[in-house]
Amino acid sequence: MPIHVLPEDVAAKIAAGEVVERPASVAKELVENSLDAGATDIKVEVRDGGQRLIRVIDNGHGIPQDEVEIAFERHATSKLETAEDLERIRTLGFRGEALPSIAAVSQVTLLTRADGEDVGTLLRLEGGKIVDRQPRGAAGGTVITMENLFYNTPARRKFLRTARTESGHIQTYITRVAMAFPDRRFTLTNNGRTNFQSTGSGELLDVLIEIYGLDTAQQLLQIDEPAEEPGSQGAGEQGSTGAREHPSTHAPQHPCTVSGYVSPPALHRSNRTYIDLFVNGRWIQDRSLTYAVGEAYRTLLPKGRHPIAVIRISIDPSEVDVNVHPAKTEVRFRDGRKVFAAVQRAVRATVIDQAPVPRIESPTHHAGFSDWEQTRTPRDHVDNQLAMGLQRTADVEPAAGTERDSADKLPPLRVVGQIAQAYIIAEGPSGMFLIDQHAAHERVLYEQLMNAAQGGNESPTASQALLDPLTVDLTGPQLETLEAYLDGLGDMGFEIKPFGGETVLIRAVPELLKGRNPAQAMISIVDELATGGSLVDEEREQRIITSVCKQGAVRAGQTLSHAEMQALIRDLEASISPRTCPHGRPTMIHLSAAQLEREFGRR
Ligand code: ADP
Ligand code: MG
Repeated sequence: MPIHVLPEDVAAKIAAGEVVERPASVAKELVENSLDAGATDIKVEVRDGGQRLIRVIDNGHGIPQDEVEIAFERHATSKLETAEDLERIRTLGFRGEALPSIAAVSQVTLLTRADGEDVGTLLRLEGGKIVDRQPRGAAGGTVITMENLFYNTPARRKFLRTARTESGHIQTYITRVAMAFPDRRFTLTNNGRTNFQSTGSGELLDVLIEIYGLDTAQQLLQIDEPAEEPGSQGAGEQGSTGAREHPSTHAPQHPCTVSGYVSPPALHRSNRTYIDLFVNGRWIQDRSLTYAVGEAYRTLLPKGRHPIAVIRISIDPSEVDVNVHPAKTEVRFRDGRKVFAAVQRAVRATVIDQAPVPRIESPTHHAGFSDWEQTRTPRDHVDNQLAMGLQRTADVEPAAGTERDSADKLPPLRVVGQIAQAYIIAEGPSGMFLIDQHAAHERVLYEQLMNAAQGGNESPTASQALLDPLTVDLTGPQLETLEAYLDGLGDMGFEIKPFGGETVLIRAVPELLKGRNPAQAMISIVDELATGGSLVDEEREQRIITSVCKQGAVRAGQTLSHAEMQALIRDLEASISPRTCPHGRPTMIHLSAAQLEREFGRR
């Protein structure tokens, strides 16, 4: 075949393939157009998973009579003029591809009346060709109806999943856009039934109540408005005149602010799909930022559990490139590290500041896994390909996990004995527990010290003066780490003074470490602190606490009396996250009575 330019309609179908992947893409593009048009009330009607029909009704500014036809031409847009405009995009759309792409693979009816015009327009297209156009009386705003998606591309149609799955994808999108725009009212109906509705009150929390249910939403912590920019960037720019004079290479200071809601450590889910990220009102996928959110919960969540988070990042549009992919769910930041740090800081600070202290006195209010299992949420996720309206729990949660996860709190345990001078055997109402004494004690100490620190105690642990102050020789790097953490270690009860060269003098140690070799304990702590930098003050403190706990906790190899074991177990029962140590490793193995029966072949 000789080389030839493809006919327009073939080219349009190919292009449509990129924009219109499935019904949810149509819903997304149409809703984004409504948002760009300033609509405050957006209704989405879906029939049969969207393949039969998707209709979006908005009260936006409408399309002027003389522009309705060009709106369906490729690369026709009212949102962008010059290539420079690409640098500062403030609208959701800008590629001028959605309407022609949708029209190329379906039958579209447009009814619109622009602000300031008396008469509206009705336009009908089939496979991208205009088949009808008339003036029509209409309410202000736009109604776009898409029918019979992929009717003219049978190959694509075969790739559509069941109506349930496809409408699930649409619902996922609508919940995300509702989170991004709490000031707009969204309504989603599926085959005539309302599946989701936000109030448009402007309060993100109201949207989250709709999505997650009142119980869960009420537990979420609001991210504090960060007081200032991360790093010393601001000070450097205002203060010095000499060192930082590279105006052309150094980007002007654009604050990156983070707002939203995150779950307290006691509320968590089994996968990361509850972490939603938004940049300037656009839902995005970003592995690195998702990781930043997870990192902020380090040591706070049991292994394999993930927070709920709605993270809204506001950043100057020139700092972010949204033109990476036609679906625009991936972005590139000019300074990705800055954004990463801002997100991690904001989440971490929120979780640490506001996380409720252990609610020992009212265990019934404990917000654990069991609570949310009963919460029916209308939300589905693309990755799970769930159909709309299914109870999430049945599908998402592996049945096997429920036994272990059924509550984070420990039931009351009876100590049976110790084995290998390392593990405590205990009996609970649901079987046998084998508890790692060191890991368990680490967790107990960690929560006690964190509570003391969060309660504003100057020194979360008492200090004990050494009868004979001790000199310790350090290596250069150890000394450097020690100096960096000296204040924090001081708060913990260490009294350490320079003693010339790389030698330091230890005068006092945290009481928690009494009985340990002070020099060895200090060196171990310093070595642990040396691994990995940290970003925020709270995190530095937390790292110190973690490493002091590690030194202070009972070791494997230590024989414990029955009373000591019983005391440790009581403390562990009172912990918020008794099942993991502060490093995220398990503190215990649980063998249920049922498992024991199975193992012994009783059933
Ligand atoms: P883009 O959104 O990238 O500009 P589209 O193909 O989605 O491209 O839309 C083309 C143009 O049609 C838009 O730029 C806008 O001017 C107009 N338009 C589309 N939908 C609406 C709507 N719901 N209300 C008002 N104008 C609309
Ligand atoms: Mg658009």
